[in-house]
Amino acid sequence: MTAISKYAVSEDGYYGEFGGRFIPEMLYANIENLRKVYLEISQEADFQIEFQSLLRDYVGRPSPLYLSKKLSIKHGASIYLKREDLNHTGAHKINNTIGQILLAQRLGKHRIIAETGAGQHGVATATVCALMGLDCIVYMGEVDIARQAPNVARMRMLGAEVRPATSGSKTLKDATNEAIRDWINNAEDTHYIIGSAIGPHPYPDMVTRFQSVISEEIKLQLEDKTGNAYPDYVIACVGGGSNAAGAFYHFLDHEKTKLILAEAAGEGIDSGRSAATSILGTKGVIHGCKTLLMQTSDGQIVEPHSISAGLDYPGIGPLHAHLIDTGRATVYPATDEEAIQAMLYLSREEGIIPALETAHALAILDQMKFKESDTIVLCLSGRGDKDLNTIMNYLDNQ
Ligand SMILES: *Cc1c(COP(=O)(O)O)cnc(C)c1O
Repeated sequence: MTAISKYAVSEDGYYGEFGGRFIPEMLYANIENLRKVYLEISQEADFQIEFQSLLRDYVGRPSPLYLSKKLSIKHGASIYLKREDLNHTGAHKINNTIGQILLAQRLGKHRIIAETGAGQHGVATATVCALMGLDCIVYMGEVDIARQAPNVARMRMLGAEVRPATSGSKTLKDATNEAIRDWINNAEDTHYIIGSAIGPHPYPDMVTRFQSVISEEIKLQLEDKTGNAYPDYVIACVGGGSNAAGAFYHFLDHEKTKLILAEAAGEGIDSGRSAATSILGTKGVIHGCKTLLMQTSDGQIVEPHSISAGLDYPGIGPLHAHLIDTGRATVYPATDEEAIQAMLYLSREEGIIPALETAHALAILDQMKFKESDTIVLCLSGRGDKDLNTIMNYLDNQ
């Protein structure tokens, strides 16, 4: 984990004008303590040895970098897939939960809380809590509990308690509010594992660093395969922004590598049913940090929509808001329909069923123009098993 320069978080938690920490007084001591120690602890030798060995033997890293011949021919460039879908629990989220549980142990916390929307982060958190023998409480909106029954069952099998959030729209933002309330009441013995590169400082930087193993591996693997560690493009889908942050991290200061984000346009950007935060979002505060979010003129959060539950978030991580603001990253939107077509294409042409979130990154390839000599790395953030119901319903209605 080498230090980055121009796009690194500042001492007080800002990326340009985005980030910071906007938190209730009652959480200040806990978050300030985390800020003081997270870098030091996570860079200690014994932490790194345990982190690296779990990534290798438990998660299954390094994840392969696979040259997709079909995509390469279709788009006229060399397209590599970074196979985070092959990780234990099926996505990149486990990289972060392993890092944070090791940190929680060293902070002497024995109770873990988390929020989850689709249940992917809840499953990754329940998994590491089972591994380490820590109590696990996952807050989940009542509506999401009904929509995501298989993941709820997984969390319970893993020994976690799933607590329904029954206020508001009964979805992710309400689950997050419940988790924050819990943390305020149990600040002493509890660590809150946030699942994306969002939240108050130091969470966005901490999550980004734990996920940065993705770009660390890409560099080594690409060098090995092509003789050049730096691709022309890195492409990733963005919900809160953790898989993108991890895939970008070691390329941030190499400006020749173009950084591309795929966001969820839902039923269309102008449809009123999308999660196209970078296009429709304005500056505001959500879940403890200043960033771009979808809100009404009087500051009420607009309910987002995406067919993929993992991109169905009204905000975007502060690092990404800054990368977009400075022109370092470019955003392309993909609709529900385009994502489904891209998902079916990869399934039928490569025998890889990607997550619906990931399919947005695949879908935007059609909007881009490449040179024959270009090397593209696309972060295949997760596998699609969890989305089979959604796809079956879609195909049945055709
Ligand atoms: C959760 C999830 C995402 C979106 O989260 P980020 O923090 O933006 O990475 C993307 N892909 C998959 C497979 C996910 O599970």
